[in-house]
Amino acid sequence: MADVHTPEQRSYNMSRVKGKDTRPELTVRKFLFAQGFRYRLHDKRLPGSPDIILPKYKTIIFVHGCFFHGHEGCRYFVIPKTRTEWWVNKINANRARDQEKTRLLQQSGWQVIVVYECELKPRIRDITLQNLVCRIRNKDS
Ligand SMILES: [Zn+2]
Repeated sequence: MADVHTPEQRSYNMSRVKGKDTRPELTVRKFLFAQGFRYRLHDKRLPGSPDIILPKYKTIIFVHGCFFHGHEGCRYFVIPKTRTEWWVNKINANRARDQEKTRLLQQSGWQVIVVYECELKPRIRDITLQNLVCRIRNKDS
């Protein structure tokens, strides 16, 4: 089967697979830090080793790539035309894992917020980040 990806795309996809310190996540972290929030990263003691943990606000933030986490209705979530069934299974498994993580964290009293990569595109990034801060702060009220 022909590999339709350019080397650039492939390394981009691989960086998403690893899932750590991706650019969208860095965007969120930098913003939160500038706003005075302090956080922990990739805490392995918590279900799913969450991306960003704000202990003071009992809040967890996941920054999800739209493709690998199957962002419903998102134009960046398009199942490839090759190995379609494999991809569908893979994405569904990722979604199921995400749901399970969220459930476990919520059971332990955490607020779980998911930010999708597409929500951090330049055009809507500011709104997304402002909303994020509101949701973090509202946890206590
Ligand atoms: Zn999306």
